[in-house]
Amino acid sequence: MFAFFFYPIDPLYFLLIGPALLLALWATARVQSTFAKYAQVGVRSGMTGAEAARAVARAGGVTELAIEETQGFLSDHYDPTSRTLRLSPQVYRGRSISSIAVAAHEAGHSIQHVKAYTWLTLRSQMVPVVKIGSTAWIWIFMAGMFFAGTRQAPNPIGGVLQNIGILLFGATVLFQLVTLPVEFDASNRAKAVLASSGIVSTQEEAQGVSKVLGAAAMTYVASALTAIMTLVYLLLRRRD
Ligand SMILES: [Zn+2]
Repeated sequence: MFAFFFYPIDPLYFLLIGPALLLALWATARVQSTFAKYAQVGVRSGMTGAEAARAVARAGGVTELAIEETQGFLSDHYDPTSRTLRLSPQVYRGRSISSIAVAAHEAGHSIQHVKAYTWLTLRSQMVPVVKIGSTAWIWIFMAGMFFAGTRQAPNPIGGVLQNIGILLFGATVLFQLVTLPVEFDASNRAKAVLASSGIVSTQEEAQGVSKVLGAAAMTYVASALTAIMTLVYLLLRRRD
């Protein structure tokens, strides 16, 4: 009955989570190839990612924003606590559709912050719980499995611990779901401002931006799906 932990291959695990994991792998490969493809295509405005991010944020009403270069590939993110946009070297310095798309998307998060966009606010409020829950849940759930006792002599502590573990994991699933509107909205804001400000000026450029951001969005969908299927698995493998 300890199949989940002691046997590396639980057919139910692969049946439920396998397809979602494959989708996640595919999405990761696709975001990388799409980024690489449009990193070769320049934009007429000739702006770097950093310049585009600055312009998009300003057009969106952001007055206080630091933009820094950070190491890594696709490591770009917005840090709301210090109101800092950290862009990877390729995005920060690049003058391509990929650089501008990613930079504008991150600037979109800074606009969400200034406008107190509901889903971003909710997401930020969930961070402390998720930070603890995302690492603690598995140990608590495993302890619950361990202390579950036997069918003849069940130990109620085991059930309680499993439930706590599942609840904590459920919170991280909820977090991933709340992340989806935040990500889609940041891309929509980015695309709107890029078009209205003329940073992206042709149909082809706009299509390229959409493709890069669409591929990135797919990775969030895939990881949310993986989390949901993992939750289903835990509920089915829960021991009474
Ligand atoms: Zn984002």
